[in-house]
Amino acid sequence: MALDPDRLDRFARHIVLPEIGGAGQAALAKARVVLVGLGGIGSPALQYLAGAGIGSLVLVDDDVVDLTNLQRQSIYHEGDVGRGKAELAAVWVRDFDPFLDAQPLAARIAADNALDIVAGADLVLDGCDNFATRLAVSDACVAARIPLVSAAVGRFQGQVGAFAGHLPDQPCYRCFVGDAFDADDCDTCAEDGMLGAMAGWVGTFAALQAIRVLLAPTGGLGDPQWGKLHVLDGLAPSLRTMTIAKDPACRGCAAR
Ligand SMILES: [Zn+2]
Repeated sequence: MALDPDRLDRFARHIVLPEIGGAGQAALAKARVVLVGLGGIGSPALQYLAGAGIGSLVLVDDDVVDLTNLQRQSIYHEGDVGRGKAELAAVWVRDFDPFLDAQPLAARIAADNALDIVAGADLVLDGCDNFATRLAVSDACVAARIPLVSAAVGRFQGQVGAFAGHLPDQPCYRCFVGDAFDADDCDTCAEDGMLGAMAGWVGTFAALQAIRVLLAPTGGLGDPQWGKLHVLDGLAPSLRTMTIAKDPACRGCAAR
């Protein structure tokens, strides 16, 4: 797929990178990404995914903007308080780059709707705020053979991992956290607090890893880093990387 001259201009700083080039930018333009959670992680992630020219974005969140969100949820402003995040995020994308396709979905993902919502995606980026949704998203990604970048943040620490549990030798997110949290529906952020810039770091790092995965088929940024969990510490500051093992008894991916 050739890009129009104005698109070539828009992404000139990508295209000049040998790791991306015209072929990589074209791959991003035809990619479909489902973004789960449009909060502290999803907002900055969306800004950099849209900035990278990801052609199709499905924006999933059933929440409305609260005044306390504005400290870190970078796509919203004060006039948005009380309005639905998914629709606001789609409006943000259309204002930013009308060439991109943004589909809002004001839904909460659970086991019964996750497969329908992730269907057709090249990648799912999950930045939601609870384990029940994360595990439902992970199971659906494994079943549909879709790569998952899962990101979480609290206080001064964040985690970003790339998962391909549908591959026989690769773990899924459930291999990492186990089965204990399927019923966990709490938003710990409200209790524990979070430095706003920390959410920004985790969200933009998740966008970087998502782009790494999307470009992997053409060489791109190299290894997609399946099963690597990056732990971001804002206080030190530091970045550690752990390797997650595939759980042979995992009920998300063991049979794959
Ligand atoms: Zn697993």
